[in-house]
Amino acid sequence: MLETLTHKEHDEARQGEAYAPFSNEVNTFKKHFYIESYGCAMNFADSEVVASILNERGFGATRNVEDADLIFINTCSIRDKAEQTVRKRLTEFRKFKRSNPSLLVGVLGCMAERLKAQFLNEEKLVDMVVGPDAYRSLPGLIEEAETGQKAVNVLLSRDETYADIAPIRLNSNGVNAFVSIMRGCNNMCSFCVVPFTRGRERSRDAASIVNECKELFEQGYREVTLLGQNVDSYHWIDEKNNETVSFALLMEKVALISPLLRVRFSTSHPKDITDEVLFTMAKYENICNYIHLPVQSGSSRVLQLMNRTYSREWYIAKVNRIREILPDCGLSTDMITGFCTETEEDHQASLSLMEYCNYDLAYMYFYSERPGTLAARRFKDDIPEEVKKRRLQEMIDLHRIHSLQSMQRDVGKTFKVLIEGTSKKDENELQGRTDHNKVVIFPRAHFKKGEYVYVTIDKCTAGTLFSNKAVGVKD
Ligand code: SAM
Ligand code: SF4
Repeated sequence: MLETLTHKEHDEARQGEAYAPFSNEVNTFKKHFYIESYGCAMNFADSEVVASILNERGFGATRNVEDADLIFINTCSIRDKAEQTVRKRLTEFRKFKRSNPSLLVGVLGCMAERLKAQFLNEEKLVDMVVGPDAYRSLPGLIEEAETGQKAVNVLLSRDETYADIAPIRLNSNGVNAFVSIMRGCNNMCSFCVVPFTRGRERSRDAASIVNECKELFEQGYREVTLLGQNVDSYHWIDEKNNETVSFALLMEKVALISPLLRVRFSTSHPKDITDEVLFTMAKYENICNYIHLPVQSGSSRVLQLMNRTYSREWYIAKVNRIREILPDCGLSTDMITGFCTETEEDHQASLSLMEYCNYDLAYMYFYSERPGTLAARRFKDDIPEEVKKRRLQEMIDLHRIHSLQSMQRDVGKTFKVLIEGTSKKDENELQGRTDHNKVVIFPRAHFKKGEYVYVTIDKCTAGTLFSNKAVGVKD
């Protein structure tokens, strides 16, 4: 797939990642847990909340599944393929259970919520099923499972945001961190399972978000990504200070922590992103000039069936507005091919919209019907799989041209880059990111992780920019 830039909302390279932040302190914990995460960035952020809850109760993480007393798998339900990956992985855990009968296996997240207790029958080796709003009950559920009973908590909440839990940063490079600002979604796009698995939308206390970002900055982090399914509908009433905090105001508060702290956010729903957000982005140099604005389809007819609540023309007007206020803004999207009733004409409309928007990055999927969603109940999944896949390939081929052009446009230009660490291929080189979230490789010289440098781009591939020389940024 064309997911060449990493550090994205749904990062293929991170799927199944296992964590061990305290791996050098293996003897200080009474028991060890192993946690693997799948799906979007919110799931990875949730695993950090889970690690914090377990750590408080004396459980330490291990990256070695063989050393674990507890195995957790934080799951994704967004497409059937994501669920099949998890089911396959669960069968691989069977052998560990055979050699260690007291080993407990827990399924967390969206699949736990979607399938509930049914999971226990379908996957015999599972001992715990825990939905995304029930992580505080994990220590109790572990105790229950230790007695040999199956433990389930899939209650969704209207107010749980885990605001008071300081997530333990897992597998972090010490520079970038994800910060959840809200949970759930109220949008009900007809193809999407998220409102059913993650519940109603609720915003997290603004002060707790700003404090978490301040602490991250003090620990040396230099970039935070504010996360939510629909960040632009963030809304918090601060009764103490008699203040209503919109997403624009929240972003401003985070940007004001320090000009050295970069701020990113994901995901924006086209219907909700406001001029106020765009003007706030324009006002602060440290708010990255980059918007992930999923469109899903270029056909107004399909968009209506998807219940996206905007038309093609409305979306184009929004893109024009972004370019008017932020002429140099990077733009990415999500696209679905082969949604119910999609014709060749609708598909061509998606391709022509991509031509118009000229996205720097696109995440493209073929439609996967999810049980219980509005589309599954109302429409027939009538586009044959080979047609969905052929349309997807055409879309990928088109986007490949746009993304390469986007990289080529950067050759010869100078960018401010935040250094994230050593290049994976050569330890004499460093790797960092531009404002537009593009990876740049350049000589190490005397520079260090977490510093900013200016680089002039000499050449590029489809996924990476290269520079011969970096120059330090004066404070
Ligand atoms: N909240 C975000 C939004 O509205 O754009 C994204 C949520 S979802 C986790 C990420 C992407 O998965 C969606 O933008 C959509 O393109 C894709 N997706 C969701 N449900 C899907 C389905 N049933 N089949 C294929 N792709 C799907
Ligand atoms: Fe799903 Fe739509 Fe909510 Fe995104 S906005 S999580 S696609 S329902």
